[in-house]
Amino acid sequence: MDNKAIAKIRALAESGDCSGNTAEEIFARCYNAAQKTLGITPFDEQIAAAISLSDGRLVQMQTGEGKTLCAVFAACREALNGGNVHILTFNDYLARRDCEWMKPIYDEMGVSVGYITEKTERAERKELYKKQVLYITAKEAGFDYLRDFVCFDTEEMVFPERLNMAVVDEADSILIDEARIPLVIAGDMTVKEDGGTAEVYKKIAGFTDSDFEYDEESRNVYLTDEGADKAEEIFGQDMYSEAGAPLLAKVCACLKARHILKEDKDYIVKDGRILLIDEFTGRTAEGRVFPGELQTAAEAKHGLKITSRGRIMGNIALQYFARLYPKIAGMTGTAESAAEEFSKLYALDIDVIPTHLPCQREDKPLELYYDGEEKRRAIIAAISEAAAAQRPVLVGTESIDESESIAGELRGKGIECSVLNAKNDTEEAGIIARAGEKGAVTISTNMAGRGVDIKLGGEDCREKDFVTSAGGLLVLATSMRESSRITKQLRGRAGRQGDVGESRFFAALDDEIMKRLDLKSLVSGRHYPAEKTSGRLEDKTLLKEAERIQRISEGNTCDERANLMKYTMIGEKHRELTFRRRKTLLDGSYNSEMWQQNATEEYERAAEKFGAKPLQALQNRVLAALLNEFWCDYLDYTAYLREGIHLTQIAGRNPAEEYNIACEEYYDSAAAAIPDRMAEKLKEVLKCSDLSEYKIAVPARTYTYLLNDMGEEFKARPILLSVFSDESEVGTEQPEKEQGEKKGFFRSLFGKK
Ligand code: ADP
Repeated sequence: MDNKAIAKIRALAESGDCSGNTAEEIFARCYNAAQKTLGITPFDEQIAAAISLSDGRLVQMQTGEGKTLCAVFAACREALNGGNVHILTFNDYLARRDCEWMKPIYDEMGVSVGYITEKTERAERKELYKKQVLYITAKEAGFDYLRDFVCFDTEEMVFPERLNMAVVDEADSILIDEARIPLVIAGDMTVKEDGGTAEVYKKIAGFTDSDFEYDEESRNVYLTDEGADKAEEIFGQDMYSEAGAPLLAKVCACLKARHILKEDKDYIVKDGRILLIDEFTGRTAEGRVFPGELQTAAEAKHGLKITSRGRIMGNIALQYFARLYPKIAGMTGTAESAAEEFSKLYALDIDVIPTHLPCQREDKPLELYYDGEEKRRAIIAAISEAAAAQRPVLVGTESIDESESIAGELRGKGIECSVLNAKNDTEEAGIIARAGEKGAVTISTNMAGRGVDIKLGGEDCREKDFVTSAGGLLVLATSMRESSRITKQLRGRAGRQGDVGESRFFAALDDEIMKRLDLKSLVSGRHYPAEKTSGRLEDKTLLKEAERIQRISEGNTCDERANLMKYTMIGEKHRELTFRRRKTLLDGSYNSEMWQQNATEEYERAAEKFGAKPLQALQNRVLAALLNEFWCDYLDYTAYLREGIHLTQIAGRNPAEEYNIACEEYYDSAAAAIPDRMAEKLKEVLKCSDLSEYKIAVPARTYTYLLNDMGEEFKARPILLSVFSDESEVGTEQPEKEQGEKKGFFRSLFGKK
């Protein structure tokens, strides 16, 4: 912490001599405004965090330390220097809460502020985006950015032309955990035929365990030889022929939906729809769908109407959306363990801010059990013990299923509890806020209620003394998480602002992550229990390796994300070019001359018939529409490429490089075809007697959603992997003939000579 700077700001605030616009003067005015309007005297730690944020850094600050206020300082400084700031919140609830809570300070500072949630009408958004400071989720902002790409009227476009700064709240969640998730906008220009998923789903009912394999790591289902034979028999189609590939993908998706996807863990069924559960927030992700065929397969599983999501017209991963802001700052309770990623992906450096009061939370070491049953017994015992002492306890589970089942067991023992899960997420903030009450037992999935303060002794702290003497809030994590940040977030729920508290962390040898990353193979036999043992496992080596699993998982996902970037950068560049060109056509800052240059004769006739000016306006709109089509085709093509691109490894080439070359070639050749397509459109225009007769095909309806786990798409997909399932590893010798065939395949894949 820069104590000198902090002292200077305090002195300025106290003297009242701070009307200028230097950073220190603005911070000093914010300091006074916080005192005057909200009665809060900012701590030194908060001023330090404000300085860091304002310098575009990432601030690590424990839960409950008052991050909301720190962002206001940084936002005011940027705004008063002429910039605009988006404070990207974790969810809609916090966008509204934080804006309303902090508004008096902004008012006092003369800075305009607003918030946008999913419910905000589009008509109101344009004005809201003009506010100097806007509270909004990254998803909403990203969707607005995408929606503008399918607008034909600049009046309807809402997203600001120029972005300055984003302050990302819960930065690790948005910039790392959710970073890869693409926001998608689709339009039903042409409705895609579903192609009988329901039929396929019925027909695979007889497949048994020996017919397919599930690869935990890639999360894909593959047919075994036996299964492939069975499929061929049932469907009368060679699964491994090129024609059979789409069917094979459907079969694998149906098998996965039937045998692997679990209702209430991976998704819930509500109002006739499949709603995905976000593995990080534990909440249903509105509008998010499973990738590819899996969504329709899941719908078939529950006999729901199979939805058609039309054509993807645009997409952007949250990570790239965040990068649209020239200046990014972030705040989170857990950043350190992801320091490398923050620095690599966003050039963000971390400042760790100490807690205002010393942390009194006791973090107990991992408690490991032989299996789920033993673990459950220990968890129930721990909750019962706390409940008997009327000590509040917050249980963080992995799934709704688990929450419900623990709650059921507790109720059976006469212990009342509140269950917080994706099914009642509107109430979750209220429930979490009461989780510190005397005797409260709250069961919650992963990080539900993130950003909401848990005060000891209830929201009004009435019984704080009692709860403190009972040991404060006890947090229990019921299994090992994918990343240590999630465990830390959960632990951080207790011991806020110097409160006493405790966190305990349970795991079993058969937890999903232990099996997936094969803990057993990491420890030598004598340290791994040969048979079921009851009670806590104490072997030090075993415990150490079990903890290491989390770091392995983190390392894997970090590598995956870095690798993914090699594939995604090129699309980002192309999208930016296309979006920008389209917008300049519509706002009149650029005029297309394709008709003048490539269809001169028709152009002259048309100009005479309709007038040069209206014709120009139409030409720009026609080209804008064509760019939409162009972009749809580009997205289709690149998705197709990614499905097969890993195959180039077999020929000893670098798939990322090949992918980039192929994208570049496609982009250029598709762009080169545009003048001819424009000329054809002009012929259509000439047939009209009036320009108003000429209708540009715009999507009848567009909808936005999040495509969960794009990573899956990049991994070896079942279709093509199976085609070459018996190939040898990268770089090994191949018989002449086979190599020749593969080259042929690549040729057709990349359209190369
Ligand atoms: P975080 O987002 O870091 O978890 P919040 O911004 O939600 O924390 O603030 C947590 C609580 O601390 C709120 O109740 C807030 O009113 C209170 N708070 C923040 N700053 C101060 C301060 N300087 N003095 C006293 N209370 C504060």
